[in-house]
Amino acid sequence: MEGGHAALAPRRLHGRLVIATHNAGKLAEMRELLAPHGVDALAAGTLGLAEPEETGSSFAENARIKAQAAAMASGLAAFADDSGLVVDALGGAPGIHSARWAGPAKDFAAAMARIEELLQARGATTPENRRAHFACALCLAWPDGHVEEFAALVAGTLAWPPRGDFGFGYDAMFRPDGHARTFGEMTASEKHGLPPHGTGLSHRARAFAKLAVACLERA
Ligand code: IMP
Repeated sequence: MEGGHAALAPRRLHGRLVIATHNAGKLAEMRELLAPHGVDALAAGTLGLAEPEETGSSFAENARIKAQAAAMASGLAAFADDSGLVVDALGGAPGIHSARWAGPAKDFAAAMARIEELLQARGATTPENRRAHFACALCLAWPDGHVEEFAALVAGTLAWPPRGDFGFGYDAMFRPDGHARTFGEMTASEKHGLPPHGTGLSHRARAFAKLAVACLERA
């Protein structure tokens, strides 16, 4: 029966998908997540697609800009994500500028030290004053302009000094709620793994789990 509800059903993804990232780490992680769902994932880089400028003012807008640019240029469904660290005491910074805070040298030790300096300057020394979350927005875009969007976050506290050598970015100073260790002290499967192998702890794993339920075939 066709009705109002039918129009609201998420569009499901079949066949090939372009991953709109030029980041090898993200590409590998997304391929791993998509493989059990029978999705044939192609990299934007290998198709020669240009990287659009991230001019949005939110994670969701930037994910949409990247996914729609790749869908238009390739004529295929495309997927993009945008993510970052949001620190309450810093008014949400670094937020959508998380990658940029590390500079061209991608120096995340310096970016973490900058956050710590700003927190100290504000007297943010107790766990309650050091609240933060990682946010992730995912977008699936089709060449006809249709999009499906998903978002998730993981809340926690900022530790200092940084702890652990796993992961990347701001992982070593982020301790997710309910855990004694930072993301930097967790293995990739502890941080990102989805059931049955993991708990779906990270912002990216949580957002991907929503996308899989809505748009992908069962693993
Ligand atoms: P983008 O999504 O490629 O624009 O960049 C996101 C940036 O946010 C990364 O370069 C990291 O600095 C930070 N970030 C996002 N997710 C994580 C995470 O899971 N751990 C640590 N840092 C992250």
